[in-house]
Amino acid sequence: MNIDLKGKTALVTGSTSGIGYAIARGLAAAGADVVINGRGQARVDAAVAAMAKAAPGTRVRGIAADVSTAAGCKALAAALPEVDILINNAGIFEPKGFFDIPDEDWSRFFEVNVMSGVRLARVYLPGMLKRNWGRIVFISSESALNIPSEMIHYGMTKTAQLAVSRGLAEMTRGTAVTVNAVLPGPTMSEGVEAFVKDLAKQNGQSVEAAASQFIKQFRPTSLLQRFASVEEIANMVVYVASKEASATNGAALRAEGGIVQTIA
Ligand code: NAD
Repeated sequence: MNIDLKGKTALVTGSTSGIGYAIARGLAAAGADVVINGRGQARVDAAVAAMAKAAPGTRVRGIAADVSTAAGCKALAAALPEVDILINNAGIFEPKGFFDIPDEDWSRFFEVNVMSGVRLARVYLPGMLKRNWGRIVFISSESALNIPSEMIHYGMTKTAQLAVSRGLAEMTRGTAVTVNAVLPGPTMSEGVEAFVKDLAKQNGQSVEAAASQFIKQFRPTSLLQRFASVEEIANMVVYVASKEASATNGAALRAEGGIVQTIA
């Protein structure tokens, strides 16, 4: 299979680092015109420059906008009125006990992890339906299915993304537009690396030992028994965004190393 996305424009939210950057790189390598997004202009510029250096010949530009706010999404839509591929990747996580999570955190998590994708789908889905081709991919998590007791607010947002994704897919009936969700498991992005480094420091362990203990202790059902790389997640997303994935719609696709023990 040869994935060719030449002529398609793709927006990846929260793509200055981590899983988002790997997805942007994968889409660009497949020939798409990729728009990198992050909140600050400096980090966006740095990510675009890094990509130009790492993958010469790819077509990548950047737009700084905070997709967790209505104003940020409006600014993004003004700068980029149409896309063929929308990857709703921007997301935040933070382990916190239920009794310590204030109302503001519940709202903030919902705005960043859910409303960003809702608002951008409202902007871009009509054009996809009109042109009769498009891909929307929500980057959810296995935490959508196995709600982590150490961050219930995060789990709530990841389950909500599945509801939104499936609901939007219903609006694509009979068209060549698809809306899917991808569910990564623990993945060694920059954000997670910082979290694991913290754990290692707290426990006086090496980073490798802390990573391995985290999987054993908190994700004991993992078949992979390690963190995934960001590229392993990006590979699934690039495929779902491709023309070749035309029969996959309304799905919640797992790239979580087998943590979830159900068959479907
Ligand atoms: P990360 O923290 O490494 O990177 C997230 C990126 O999003 C950063 O570039 C950050 O600057 C950007 N961002 C955050 N808020 C933003 C906003 N309001 N507007 C624009 N950009 C914003 O995160 P990651 O680990 O790569 O996670 C990416 C996505 O994958 C998230 O939705 C996360 O929930 C999901 N996920 C991650 C894992 C994991 O283990 N890493 C597992 C399952 C799901």
